[in-house]
Amino acid sequence: MMLVSTDVREFVQKTIKGTLVKGFYSTYIQKNVEASLAEVEKELDQMVSEGLLKKYYELCCNENFCTHQLDGQEDPSNFKEEYDCERCGEEIEDISSCVTKVRYMAVR
Ligand SMILES: [Zn+2]
Repeated sequence: MMLVSTDVREFVQKTIKGTLVKGFYSTYIQKNVEASLAEVEKELDQMVSEGLLKKYYELCCNENFCTHQLDGQEDPSNFKEEYDCERCGEEIEDISSCVTKVRYMAVR
């Protein structure tokens, strides 16, 4: 049996070699390796600290069954305090009601 970390790393390398791939979610890797999401994210975070990957935070509307992406930042502290969702029209005054998704990107 392969080590989880080797398995994750090999699949990540294969994934980011594709020229059209702008990044991926940890769930995508988890579906393709035999490891739990926690194990995958631990390895991805290790690759981030090694400078191989970087994280990109996507803030998504979570009102009215809407999933519209309101903002994207490498540093989530750059998110604004309020957003108007252009898809569902919700005025969001507290972003803690939003969903934050983490996309992992290759460092070129
Ligand atoms: Zn919305």
